[in-house]
Amino acid sequence: MNFDIESPVTREELVQSLRKHQSANFRLGAGFTDLLIELKNSDQAELTLINLSQLEDEEFSGMSFNPTEFRVGALVTVAQISKNSAIQQNFPVLQQAALSLASGQIREVATIGGNICQASPSGDLSCALVALKATCEIMDMEGKIRHEALSGFFRGPGKTSLQKSEVLKSISIPVNQRKTLKSGFIKIGKRSAMECSIVSIGYHFQVEADGKVIQAGIAIGAVAPTVIFCSKAAAFLIKRNVNNLTEDDRLKVAELIQQAASPIDDLRASAWYRKEVLFNTARSIFE
Ligand SMILES: Cc1cc2nc3c(=O)[nH]c(=O)nc-3n(C[C@H](O)[C@H](O)[C@H](O)COP(=O)(O)OP(=O)(O)OC[C@H]3O[C@@H](n4cnc5c(N)ncnc54)[C@H](O)[C@@H]3O)c2cc1C
Repeated sequence: MNFDIESPVTREELVQSLRKHQSANFRLGAGFTDLLIELKNSDQAELTLINLSQLEDEEFSGMSFNPTEFRVGALVTVAQISKNSAIQQNFPVLQQAALSLASGQIREVATIGGNICQASPSGDLSCALVALKATCEIMDMEGKIRHEALSGFFRGPGKTSLQKSEVLKSISIPVNQRKTLKSGFIKIGKRSAMECSIVSIGYHFQVEADGKVIQAGIAIGAVAPTVIFCSKAAAFLIKRNVNNLTEDDRLKVAELIQQAASPIDDLRASAWYRKEVLFNTARSIFE
């Protein structure tokens, strides 16, 4: 296969590259951990790779806090996320998901934007970010910005709402109003490293000092064509006390989470197995 590589350094150069290639065959790449595997198995003729990794633009490659949201640029690597103390304190679900992704070497180059735009139903960061009710900031080839809830951005395996003229710029996570959290990421796979999940659950609850839930987010991965936000389970938990759930409550939450899933049989596991594992994993959140 023949391909050219363009490596824009400024946002203006990126916008120009996007405009220049609109009628041609091009792909955006950041860490290339997914893209190189895909391209190795394809025989596309003429292809231009727009390499985002050289962009010198804080809004794409930095992280920032303001009173209402935490912004993570699409080019922030999984390793940076796993080591960031603000993420560790405020969004444990995201840090745990980052630490569960692949290996140390891959985490150094793989980006959060690549994980999202790959739109894998088993994308670890995607699952954590849907639980966190994150929003995407998307830039088009005119430099115009649109925002979309991440849960709506995924349209199917490998499919997103991104148009050819668009690039994911950053992700925003609402900042916690309360500091008391119950937040975590559980990934079930055949091995503990270098393995895509058979089932994953991300959860993030903001609670009062006594344990009463005031905000709830639960997302599941690898059990449907996209990562799914479990709205019924999250709504059920509001105003309940996470330290004091009855066995019936735990079963109800697990049942509601299981009902949100629509897995298929594939090479890694059968649909039946995924549903059973999902139910038991969901129950274990409150044990
Ligand atoms: C051995 C191995 C193990 C892995 N294990 C895991 C795992 O455990 N969990 C997991 O979730 N993933 C895993 N992955 C997948 C992969 O590493 C992640 O999805 C990674 O986060 C992708 O990021 P990237 O920067 O490398 O994306 P790239 O490969 O550069 O791009 C991926 C896709 O996103 C698009 N894209 C990238 N950035 C942007 C942007 N800013 N705007 C628009 N489109 C964009 C590209 O065009 C491409 O379609 C694994 C991969 C390998 C090779």
